[in-house]
Amino acid sequence: MLTRFAPSPTGELHLGHAFSAILAHDAARAAGGAFHLRIDDIDGSRSREAFVGAALADLEWLGLTFDGAPVRQSQHLGDYAAALAGLRARGLVYPCFCTRADIAASLAAPHGAPADGTALYPGTCRHLGAAERGRRLAQEPHCWRLDMASAVAIAGPLVWEEEGRGPRAADPAAHGDVVLARKDAPASYHLASTIDDAAMGVTLVVRGADLIASTDVHRLLQALLGFATPVYRHHALVCGADGTRLAKRDGAAALAALRAAGVDGRALADDLRAGRLPAGYSLQMP
Ligand code: GLU
Repeated sequence: MLTRFAPSPTGELHLGHAFSAILAHDAARAAGGAFHLRIDDIDGSRSREAFVGAALADLEWLGLTFDGAPVRQSQHLGDYAAALAGLRARGLVYPCFCTRADIAASLAAPHGAPADGTALYPGTCRHLGAAERGRRLAQEPHCWRLDMASAVAIAGPLVWEEEGRGPRAADPAAHGDVVLARKDAPASYHLASTIDDAAMGVTLVVRGADLIASTDVHRLLQALLGFATPVYRHHALVCGADGTRLAKRDGAAALAALRAAGVDGRALADDLRAGRLPAGYSLQMP
């Protein structure tokens, strides 16, 4: 058993992160396995070293210990580039030159992947001729998109195991031609997370149910890249008084603020384990 907690250092951790980290930590400890920390810092423009330090302090305050040194995605950019080159050689990705406005919805990963079809990439750049593609590649900023129809045809039907609930059918086609490498970052969340979960030997991915849609795409990438599929546990989300899930901007729920206010982190962790949340917060399945 190997689990991981994988915060993006783009803000302070909040109660929702604490809940997720505790579940992943406890699952590993209960099985005599390992719990690893991964810093998802591929987004160089938004990642801050101060948030890495704060996350380490938060975990210690909660009484959570992790094994080995933290893994940093920024040190694995070569792995993502190699995987992308392999997919490119197989004709499974294509460069997309569409503007930010066109692709804004697609770039909202990792949260809120469109499932209703409204925000799917229309495939404009999938149909470019080789000459135009070559010329624009040399001149224009571009991301790389998965040719979803081709990928799904190769992979065939896919399932993953949702811990304790049995097999789930993955529906990657619902996401359209997802971005695997961004204009402004060398890999998307989907590509980097799938590669690192495999490279780290993660056997159980514990994360919020808001990311369940991403698992459709990750399962497909595992099939294309020849990776083993971990078991998944998509857990309920910590929500605020308005019933919506916490975001990094909800400062009152920030662990650093609770820490500074003298809250006992280990007692808080035990409360979260028991499903007892501070006043005004609740656990909800989206
Ligand atoms: N860095 C991602 C996040 O914070 C990790 C999600 C995951 O656990 O796969 O949302």
